[in-house]
Amino acid sequence: MAKVAFIGLGNMGGGMAANLVKAGHEVMAFDLSEDALARARDNGCTTVDDAVAAVTGAEAIVTMLPAGKHVAAVYAESVIPNADKSAILIDCSTIDVATARDVAAKAADAGLTMVDAPVSGGIAAADGGTLTFMVGGTEDGFKRAEVILDAMGKAVIHAGDAGAGQAAKICNNMLLGATMVATCETFALAKALGLDLQKFYDISSQASGQSWSMTSYCPVPGVGPETPADRDYQGGFASALMLKDLKLAMEAARNNDAYTPMGGEAEELYQRFVDLGGGGVDFSGIIQMIEDSWEAK
Ligand code: NAD
Repeated sequence: MAKVAFIGLGNMGGGMAANLVKAGHEVMAFDLSEDALARARDNGCTTVDDAVAAVTGAEAIVTMLPAGKHVAAVYAESVIPNADKSAILIDCSTIDVATARDVAAKAADAGLTMVDAPVSGGIAAADGGTLTFMVGGTEDGFKRAEVILDAMGKAVIHAGDAGAGQAAKICNNMLLGATMVATCETFALAKALGLDLQKFYDISSQASGQSWSMTSYCPVPGVGPETPADRDYQGGFASALMLKDLKLAMEAARNNDAYTPMGGEAEELYQRFVDLGGGGVDFSGIIQMIEDSWEAK
């Protein structure tokens, strides 16, 4: 078992650190929030006063921070100057591909091995240890990270070189955002045409229109498996986080001259939904905005 530094003990990181403790690792935890530190202590982590204290002497360093600017700052100021050369550096935050590659290159220049390992799965999966990790880095970096990530997830997949984990994450979520919007507007049309929505689900979920957004996460209450739609769109994956991922995807598309019109449309619609106050609502709740817009016409 390893001595692991964990920085960023928020909604996701709190549960992830707890699962490392459960697996027998010694976890040195740091967050700027006192509440997050108290929760980490309750879960068996040793809390420390700053990131440098967490990192010093650690065999693995895991970060779960809000965005690229936090990751760049924590690695530049605390992790890279103080990590042991033998430590494996694992950033699980969802950030832009360019920053992920830049931080990994700076770590490599300092003789350190770093991987990006963003996750699929929300707070329940972080608490339950059932996340999916998509990892970018060298083969050696992946193998060393996998031993640590196994304690927090159900699948750990090597996506490619540095930044490939972030690239896979934002491509997946761009597809998810676009198919969710398409699923919502399809149900709005089906309703306007007088179709029984359960009947339409039974047909389309076994026909060529089938997608995960329809069969595993149906945005219509009472149709398909139980989803956040059945809980008034509470819990699940917040629309503000979907918007964050769509913005990262559109930024990557611009930087790489990729043509992504459906991703752009999904970004605009989620921006409008968040501006209307839907940021905390599950991302399938955008069906309410789509149906309201339809009714307003
Ligand atoms: P969060 O805001 O709940 O947690 C982030 C934590 O980082 C906070 O506790 C904050 O105090 C801490 N932090 C910020 N700057 C710090 C610093 N300099 N030093 C130490 N701690 C610092 O966010 P979250 O929901 O846990 O998400 C974390 C990451 O995971 C994000 O990149 C997010 O996009 C991604 N993600 C979230 C979900 C989800 O459902 N919440 C799902 C998949 C991926």
